[in-house]
Amino acid sequence: MDDSSFISNELDENGFPSCLAEDDGEGGDSCEEVDGVGIVDGSDGKGESFAGSFYRSGTDCSSLLQKDPSLTDTRKSSGTRLVQADLFKMWGLKRAADSKAGASLINGTRGSDDRALQKNPKLRRVGEDIATSGNVAKRNCPFYKRIAGYFLSHFHHDHYGGLRKEWSHGPIYCTPITARLVKSCLAVDSIFICSLELDTEYTIEGIKVTMLEANHCPGAAMIYFRLLDGRCYLHTGDFRACRRMQSHPLLSSQHPSVLYLDTTYCDPKYRFPSREDVLHYTVEIAKSGLKKQPKTLIVVGAYSIGKENVYLAISEALSIQIYVNASRRRILQSYGWDELSKRLSSDGHETPLHVLPISMLSFERLKQYLDGYRQFASVLAFRPTGWTYSEKIGEQLDLIKPKSKGRITIYGVPYSEHSSYLELKEFVQFLQPEKIIPTVNVGNAATRDKMQKCFQDWMKS
Ligand SMILES: [Zn+2]
Repeated sequence: MDDSSFISNELDENGFPSCLAEDDGEGGDSCEEVDGVGIVDGSDGKGESFAGSFYRSGTDCSSLLQKDPSLTDTRKSSGTRLVQADLFKMWGLKRAADSKAGASLINGTRGSDDRALQKNPKLRRVGEDIATSGNVAKRNCPFYKRIAGYFLSHFHHDHYGGLRKEWSHGPIYCTPITARLVKSCLAVDSIFICSLELDTEYTIEGIKVTMLEANHCPGAAMIYFRLLDGRCYLHTGDFRACRRMQSHPLLSSQHPSVLYLDTTYCDPKYRFPSREDVLHYTVEIAKSGLKKQPKTLIVVGAYSIGKENVYLAISEALSIQIYVNASRRRILQSYGWDELSKRLSSDGHETPLHVLPISMLSFERLKQYLDGYRQFASVLAFRPTGWTYSEKIGEQLDLIKPKSKGRITIYGVPYSEHSSYLELKEFVQFLQPEKIIPTVNVGNAATRDKMQKCFQDWMKS
């Protein structure tokens, strides 16, 4: 476990940018669910929130981080800081001394900005990650003058921490959905946002770049780089490997020189079911819950982005609308996902399916929430995350035991948006990269060694 990251004050504990709450027009809506129960600070009153521990344990702390004890006193970090490395340079690419941040994109999307890079942008670059958010913006970093741009794999807070309205450090390359979220949630100036369509090859600084579906959350992409000399590099970002990826022409045609791999669950103990199985299970539990008690309120916990399929599956199976607050609704509607958009409701009294911040999934909070909806008699809540994994349960969903107290029942369901161990293994064995760089859980030498051992075994077999 790595604790080199923490949640920025700019966002609430579920990853909703605070700016949404301020301009929502619905009375501070990102706190809409909690206002009625007197919660103002977003903590659950028991120390660290679930979201906090999620981010702390799942943060993508790349191997480019190194110890810097001088930083431990002033920031909530483990004393790591970003190693100033430029991947393009590491790959042996030379840029002209006066080269400015810019790009020429094949399909005509704007791609050039030549404002000087002056501050630590704290945005994930390909192959890099930022150790902390907070007051690290003032270091002088000559290497920034060589930066071509920034690649944002997806809109999860532990990947874009520090990105804000004032951004002026160069182009941000990301998928169209992520681009819309960066613009609408963080109000970043659109001249800095370069939207790259999935499965389309662009040329940036002479390098071919293609965004590939990452099977993680809406807008999430793996980033594929092809150099002039033919070498290729794949950065998975956060992803859930699946068979479908093996038929992608770029992945099936060449072994990457380096694979930057999301190793969130790179341990044989992480065996969880397919997402389809978890969705089926969740829908069945929801159905039987409503059958037993027709006045049941079904709650799905979710961060700002992700887990949409869980509540969409329940909505479709039970033919009910999905109530979400205005902040979330704005985010969901920006996906351009019609099946989801048409099922959204703005009135919690109209439908028995509500989506709440995952931090709301405690007995106390749900009880208070239920008190605000007198037409419901009980709550059946789902907490969908790979972190609810249990070694005993593994892939046997029937062994899941819900927790109940009074009128509240909470199910932890292992719906993961990261690869299981076996999915990682299959993906790596398929790709046969020359080198693998793990990007998660690398803060501990023993864990790093264990992962390298896994990689070696996979490549042998
Ligand atoms: Zn993510």
